[in-house]
Amino acid sequence: MDTLAPVADRGGPAQPLLLATGLRKHFPIPGGLFGRATRVVRAVDDLTLSVAKGETLGVVGESGCGKSTVARLLIRLLQPDRGTMVLDGDPVDEPHGITVNELRRNVQMVFQDSYASLNPRLTIAETLAFAPKAHGLPANEARDRVRDLLSKVGLDPASYADRYPHELSGGQRQRVNIARALALRPRLIILDEAVSALDKSVEAQVLNMLVDLKKELGLTYVFISHDLNVVQYLSDRVLVMYLGKIVELGPVEAIYGDPQHPYTRALLSARPSMDPRRRTKEAPIQGDPPNPINPPSGCRFRTRCPYAEDICAKVEPLLADTGAQSVACHMRVPGSGHSKAVAA
Ligand code: SF4
Repeated sequence: MDTLAPVADRGGPAQPLLLATGLRKHFPIPGGLFGRATRVVRAVDDLTLSVAKGETLGVVGESGCGKSTVARLLIRLLQPDRGTMVLDGDPVDEPHGITVNELRRNVQMVFQDSYASLNPRLTIAETLAFAPKAHGLPANEARDRVRDLLSKVGLDPASYADRYPHELSGGQRQRVNIARALALRPRLIILDEAVSALDKSVEAQVLNMLVDLKKELGLTYVFISHDLNVVQYLSDRVLVMYLGKIVELGPVEAIYGDPQHPYTRALLSARPSMDPRRRTKEAPIQGDPPNPINPPSGCRFRTRCPYAEDICAKVEPLLADTGAQSVACHMRVPGSGHSKAVAA
């Protein structure tokens, strides 16, 4: 039996591929008496999300909003302080669930820095063969796997297999990183700013390759980026994060066509667009996000929100279904106490 055959679907299309519930990650800051941590950076707070089979879930937000921490929690490069994860029906890392190694067989990640992600002393073939061999694939099959992976990412195996990372361009290195992520035939790939460091023309080629690979291999993506245009191009659904919380989540057409949260509207208004229909009248967001060590009470966006009222400081708005999308804002909840709350 091929120990590295693609993992079979278990729960059918309606069962989420990955379900994370109540994830929390606070980073302690040493500095108290005897180096004890007295304060924490609240990087991710009680975040719940699901990733459907075959979709691309885009994750956007300013830098420092917790996007990359979410990515690392989903693949367990970071251990959550709280929360649970379920992969296609199997709880992760619980007494009767799957191990973190099994999770990583199914979920792989591609980082932004293509050079730092590769071992400079290994050839591309050695890098790509490493994980399959560690999982028991015989050497001759691992060699075939390397050739196949390089072809899949548009690199000629005869020219690239024996090269070292420093002999490749940034775009070629990122193709190798994507090939490595595919080496164990995962079902979900988390792309964390994976094309952000590339030239625009190379970025477009890599994005198109990602679209093709997704179709060919039946993959699911979580695509994290600060580039709203790229997220729009690639995503089926979009999740907007602010200071460790989800503020809006929904289909890409709804988020970009009719954004409901003031933060989403401000983010979108700040992006350059040649299309006048896509320009919003919202003022671009002002200032920097507040310190995540001591986030504002109630709604975390209230210190930058032009619509903030007393209720926003007192009560935290929860993510609520508003039709096409879910939004965490008192203005979208009938009877919330906000003067602009929608009618029931
Ligand atoms: Fe603005 Fe209040 Fe809505 Fe937060 S809850 S986004 S402060 S109106």
